[in-house]
Amino acid sequence: MSHHLHIHPSVDNGVRPGSASFEGGALHCHCPDNKVEVTVDAQCAHNHVCGCTKCWKPEGALFSMVAVVPRDKLRVTANEDKLEVVDPSAAIQRHACKSCGVHMFGRIENTGHPFHGLDFIHTELSNDSGWAAPEFAAFVSSIIESGTNPDTMGEVRSRLKELGLEPYDCLSPPLMDAIATHTAKAKGVL
Ligand SMILES: [Zn+2]
Ligand SMILES: [Zn+2]
Repeated sequence: MSHHLHIHPSVDNGVRPGSASFEGGALHCHCPDNKVEVTVDAQCAHNHVCGCTKCWKPEGALFSMVAVVPRDKLRVTANEDKLEVVDPSAAIQRHACKSCGVHMFGRIENTGHPFHGLDFIHTELSNDSGWAAPEFAAFVSSIIESGTNPDTMGEVRSRLKELGLEPYDCLSPPLMDAIATHTAKAKGVL
C-alpha cells in the first residue's frame, strides 16, 4: 500500500546492490547537450537517501540520494564553465549546472570540518552500474520542511524500513560517531 510513495527513483523498485569490484565512473548533468561531466576514480561510500532541504533531488522524489568520495578522486572533465556554487555561505559548496540546476558535486573547503576531504555526489547521474547501494535514510523528519504532510511520516518510515533503508532523523550512528570523535579530538578530550 505504500508504493505510491516516491522515495527516490533509484530505490522505488527496490535497492540494487553495488559491485565490490567497481572503481568509479562518470556523472552527467541533465542538459540535452554540452553536459557537465564529472569523473570519479573511486567507489563511493556512505550512500544514503537524504530528506534535508539542501541536497538536490529529482522531480517528485521525497528524498535525494547522496554518497561521498575522496575529493582527490573527483574531477570535472567537461563543461566546467557551466558550474556555479549554489550557496557560497553553506558548509557544503554545492556545484550545480547553471543550465539544468543539477548538483554535480558538493565540496567542503573548511579544513576543520569533520567531513573535509570528502565530496558529495549523486550516483544516479551516472550510467555506470556498480556504485555502492544506499544503506540508510538520513534527516527523514526534514521532508516535512519541504511540504510533506507530517501525518504521512509513519508510512514514509515504514516504506524506508521495507526497502532496508533504516530511517534516522540525523545521520546514521557511525557517521554521528565520526562527527563526535572529530569534535572530541579537536577539543583534546580524546
Ligand atoms: Zn546541465
Ligand atoms: Zn541532504
